[in-house]
Amino acid sequence: PGKKVLIVYAHQEPKSFNGSLLKIAVEELTKQGCSVTVSDLYAMQFEPRATRNDIVGHLHNSEEFNYGVETWEAYKRGGLSKDLIEEQRKVQEADLLIFQFPLFWFNMPAILKGWMDRVLVQGFAYDLSKSYDGGLLQDKLSLFSFTTGGTKERFAKRGDVRYLLWPMQHGIMHFCGVKVLEPHICYAPAHASEEKRKEMLAAWTQRLKTLWKEEPIDCSPEWYFK
Ligand code: FAD
Ligand code: ZN
Repeated sequence: PGKKVLIVYAHQEPKSFNGSLLKIAVEELTKQGCSVTVSDLYAMQFEPRATRNDIVGHLHNSEEFNYGVETWEAYKRGGLSKDLIEEQRKVQEADLLIFQFPLFWFNMPAILKGWMDRVLVQGFAYDLSKSYDGGLLQDKLSLFSFTTGGTKERFAKRGDVRYLLWPMQHGIMHFCGVKVLEPHICYAPAHASEEKRKEMLAAWTQRLKTLWKEEPIDCSPEWYFK
């Protein structure tokens, strides 16, 4: 109630299962009195590439381009491109970041990875010696909600799904000081019966109802690799 939520959504098709999961989150959280913002990355034609176009005006070192240094310097003087400033404003205001996407190659789709690469700039999200528990995005929660092609059994047999959460949850969110809630995984919606799909969607609604009572996970190597 009164909480601000940013949903960063990476699917091309509103009628997809991811589209339905997004719709549910917007409806349920709005119903709770949260204010919900959606960054619909494909619809926005979000630029995933980290290039010098992200810096407006002069470069700190025009002889040899270094993306990390240039965006850091540009952030400090308010010289990042408009789309980045806008996404950073949404992140800054949010109490909770939800990432909604289909799993691509054991990872997030490139457009969402590009959002991470470009938005979470040094000086804004982390800084020298300000990382992990000291990261700059304190007092925020994150939740990775994604779908897979593979079934739960297959993931259990071929490798623990927690391994692929390590770079996303620990390497990105925890690094920036953001706390991490349990991920929400809908396995193989394309191979599930209509009834099973409805069940998975109902489970997401159900989880969202008590989301604000959840404690963050212990985002340490033990959680991932025990
Ligand atoms: P959809 O295909 O959109 O949804 C499944 C079905 O649900 C559809 O028939 C849809 O109409 C239906 N549906 C939508 N809304 C509702 C509703 N409200 N009620 C009932 N039915 C509904 N998978 C892995 O496991 N590991 C990988 O590493 C991996 N890598 C990939 C890499 C690439 C490049 C690609 C393209 C896919 C990869 N996949 C992988 C598969 C991918 O993760 C799945 O295809 C995806 O997660 C399915 O989600 P979707 O939203 O696209 O499903
Ligand atoms: Zn961690």
